[in-house]
Amino acid sequence: MKNKIKKYIREKIIAIYETRFATFFFKQKGFCPCCEQDTLFIARNSWLRDHFKCTNCGCIPRERALMKVIKEYYPNWETLAIHESSPGNRGHSKLLREKAQNYTETQFFGNTNLGDYVNGVRNEDLEQQTFDDAMFDIVVTSDVMEHIYNPEKAFSEIQRTLKSGGAHIFSVPIINKHKATQRWAKKGSDGEPVFLFEPEWHGNPIDSKGSPVTFHWGYDIKDIIKEYTADECEIIYIDDLNYGIRAEYIEIVVQKKNVK
Ligand SMILES: [Zn+2]
Repeated sequence: MKNKIKKYIREKIIAIYETRFATFFFKQKGFCPCCEQDTLFIARNSWLRDHFKCTNCGCIPRERALMKVIKEYYPNWETLAIHESSPGNRGHSKLLREKAQNYTETQFFGNTNLGDYVNGVRNEDLEQQTFDDAMFDIVVTSDVMEHIYNPEKAFSEIQRTLKSGGAHIFSVPIINKHKATQRWAKKGSDGEPVFLFEPEWHGNPIDSKGSPVTFHWGYDIKDIIKEYTADECEIIYIDDLNYGIRAEYIEIVVQKKNVK
């Protein structure tokens, strides 16, 4: 009963907002892969990538796409060994943290020894990890790979920590599309970014300064990863409103470690 009243009030508020204030409004009923509920997805801004949210859990399209791909590739994901680098507090990260029985989260804190724990989160640099070989079935990153300085090291380190048959499943904005990948920044001698073009920063939950954008990836990311890992790689684009998945730049890349 309480939930029904809540739902009624929420729908009324949305209706008022829709008619009076919103200049853009898009809504869609569907099933959210992150909170695993029937829900209403709503956007009040035409930039769906950041604004088309699940009204139940607040997740955004690329997080739903990532979780959907994880579930499709590994239906038994709850029992698998999963490493997520730089997770957030909602969407797929929240579901993985709650339900995956063997889930390890890491952040790169910079000022602590690699492999140490800070408030239960392990300090790891994707480019030089302290994990043993073949520890994980799945490695997850979500909009992280556009901030790495040395992709060769990061992708091959991830590959090293994957079990055979495992995969790195990740979202990354492929903003260059069919144009070749461009390096956007390199690491200066003081550790700060030296931008080769207009400086670009993305929000970072553990650093108020944000994270510098170091690469503008194109679809050739597939070939680049293959060159570094010698394994196949796939790019998956989902446009499926039944799951609230519609937006620009929500390709999911699956970097496989083939069974040898
Ligand atoms: Zn949700």
